[in-house]
Amino acid sequence: MARNIGAACRRCRRENLKLYLKGDRCFSDKCSFERRAFGPGQHGQAKFKKQSDYAVQLREKQKVKSMYGMLEGQFRLFFEKAEKQRGVTGENLLVMLERRLDNAVFRIGFASSRNQARQLVRHNHILVNGRKVNIPSFLVSVGDVVTLKEKSRANALIIENFEAVIRRGVPSWLELDKDNFKATLKALPNREEVTMPIQERLIVELYSK
Ligand code: SF4
Repeated sequence: MARNIGAACRRCRRENLKLYLKGDRCFSDKCSFERRAFGPGQHGQAKFKKQSDYAVQLREKQKVKSMYGMLEGQFRLFFEKAEKQRGVTGENLLVMLERRLDNAVFRIGFASSRNQARQLVRHNHILVNGRKVNIPSFLVSVGDVVTLKEKSRANALIIENFEAVIRRGVPSWLELDKDNFKATLKALPNREEVTMPIQERLIVELYSK
């Protein structure tokens, strides 16, 4: 399955924003953005000049694609589906992105980043309603139960990630059963809990041109 394999830290520097793509490293002094808070490349320092409306919209879309680790084709598909739903297209899009299985696994805390969550899903560590699902873009629905496979519960890295999230808490749309390494989607994700600085309106404007 295609995925964006460009250097993660470079993408943060390109968007001039910490996108938290590398788990624990993002919170350490090894974070490239902290050490070199300017654009990548030879002329990186010149890239954050005043931008046209189109460039601002484009960067917003690229930023959100990077956050959720998606390529253009799949992101566009999500947008088209969001457009067909009732309600505000931008919000619909964000809710759909949050419903991706790799994002849910990240939010539940089995992984410290969405990239790591994607690996867990692909490598068959995750069950949805008791059945193996290895498609990161699978959309979880209200009532779905996402579980870590029993064999994977001794994995030290997963345990470490999970304990960190138990301390921090999960979004209100998830109900965590920490003893059984599972979470139930008790409601659809809501816009307010997507705390990353996203202006979805700009993405809608871009695709509506
Ligand atoms: Fe971005 Fe994380 Fe790399 Fe820092 S360490 S630049 S937040 S991906």
